Amino acid sequence: MSSPTSSTAPDILAGPAVFAGTPVVPGVAVGPVVRPAGAVRLPEGGAAPVAEADRPVERDRFAAAAGAVARRLAARAAAATGVSAEVLSSTAQLATDRGLLSAVEQRIDAGASAAVATVGAAQQFVELFTGLGGVMAERATDVRDVRDRIVAELTGQGEPGVPAPETPSVLLADDLAPADTAGLDPARIVALATRLGGATSHTAIIARQLGLPCVVGVGGLGDVPSGALVLVDGERGTVTVDPEPVAARARVAEAQAVTAALASYRGPGSTRDGHPVQVLANVQDGVGARAAAAAHAEGVGLLRTELAFFGHATEPPVDEQAAGYAEVFAAFPGGKVVLRTLDAGSDKPLAFATPPDEANPALGVRGVRVARRDPGLLTRQLDAVAQAARSTGATPWVMAPMVATVAEAADFAAAVRARGLVPGVMVEVPSVALLADRFLEHLDFLSIGTNDLSQYTLAADRLSAELADLTDPWQPALLALVRATAAAGERAGKPVGVCGEAAADPLLACVLVGMGVTSLSCAAGSVAGVGAKLATVDLADCRRAARAALAAADPSAARLAARAALAG
Ligand code: PEP
Ligand code: MG
Repeated sequence: MSSPTSSTAPDILAGPAVFAGTPVVPGVAVGPVVRPAGAVRLPEGGAAPVAEADRPVERDRFAAAAGAVARRLAARAAAATGVSAEVLSSTAQLATDRGLLSAVEQRIDAGASAAVATVGAAQQFVELFTGLGGVMAERATDVRDVRDRIVAELTGQGEPGVPAPETPSVLLADDLAPADTAGLDPARIVALATRLGGATSHTAIIARQLGLPCVVGVGGLGDVPSGALVLVDGERGTVTVDPEPVAARARVAEAQAVTAALASYRGPGSTRDGHPVQVLANVQDGVGARAAAAAHAEGVGLLRTELAFFGHATEPPVDEQAAGYAEVFAAFPGGKVVLRTLDAGSDKPLAFATPPDEANPALGVRGVRVARRDPGLLTRQLDAVAQAARSTGATPWVMAPMVATVAEAADFAAAVRARGLVPGVMVEVPSVALLADRFLEHLDFLSIGTNDLSQYTLAADRLSAELADLTDPWQPALLALVRATAAAGERAGKPVGVCGEAAADPLLACVLVGMGVTSLSCAAGSVAGVGAKLATVDLADCRRAARAALAAADPSAARLAARAALAG
């Protein structure tokens, strides 16, 4: 996670004004500011009621306007692909949503004009979605967007939305309707920054798909005038007004070099001076493994086996499990595949494995602990892994999730070795990091799951958006535990990988390597970014960055310190 929304007040004497926000799509672009067309003028309430005889006409006018809006958006959806197409067609559907339409019609039947009725009904839905919070709250932006489009149609105002400038420009906005973002032409809009919105907003998702550098949650943007030259830095999360030309050109060139390196990444991973670092992928099945191979991952660093169990009321038979694992092993012939045994429970409940009524499931019977209740679950899964290994000639590494004690690790290792497989455990509970030397006496490797390790170290639910600053993988306590674990691996001469989300952050990846981590495993889509970044730094740079990050007081200081250390 990046730092919380913040802004730096412009200081003219100190140089160009720099506004900070949450970086969501890397890349750097410079251009003049354009802003979305002015807001649609909404009708005031309080007008005299429409005469009863005219109400059917109002209903027809409304139906025609809503239909026109829906058709226009649907046509754009048909011309778009991926998330953009999905967003445009879901906004189009909203314009024909039965609930919204009948709320408008009721108001018209009670005497409101079509435009007033549209505004009133939309407000009712905005309040509903906002009250629900979370992902549903984002739907309120869609409702407002559809409202504005219908009112513009009814009142003869121009279609709201984003301009199509002649010169490649930077779009600054308070917030963008998903349909506006989805309709952006990357040849005309080269970057975007918004005052509102978070890293998981639709704006962010679509900008990612379009490959547009993007920063959201940037305070102070409202004061930047249209036409002003700005630099959007989607990696650092900043918007610089009137950037110094030489520095701006250098920063753009640097970012372009990173993009080019990313496109040409073929693996295997290593630092610029040749220190090898396996860059692996997190997958859940054969399809994912083949996609990871195509993305030039060197292997699989985390096969989340439980994901293939979802939707099963009962445990899948050994042969069926084995067939699934064999598909993954076959995607990397002779390569590395690290399989994790069933991680059921807490955020991943499984009907046949986890108790339904725990008061505190994150601290309950999850991960390897499910074998306490049903040891056969684990042994049958290990049998299936061994069967798949035999049928493909692979030698998979097998690790258990949520291990807390050395005794658990020793028992697990014995069961894995008995089947000719390579045993390890995940480091998700701080007890493992603290006693990593003792664990490694029994195991061949460790793999740090930073998602859970941060949850259990900072005592903050990993799913809580409100506590995301605590589960930030740059938290000093988390970094200290990673370093302690990697140091134990160095002493034992055994590999220590990272397979949590931390491994997907190219900057943090350098820090992890500097701490002694030997492999990084992330989503297939992040492999090239991590691999390409590592190829630009020496091991000594990584070590310097690791020391700087470990000494920092908080996550944002750690990021800054690491970046400065890598820059030399
Ligand atoms: C982790 O906890 O970091 C991890 C990789 O496992 P999961 O996210 O599947 O719990
Ligand atoms: Mg985990």
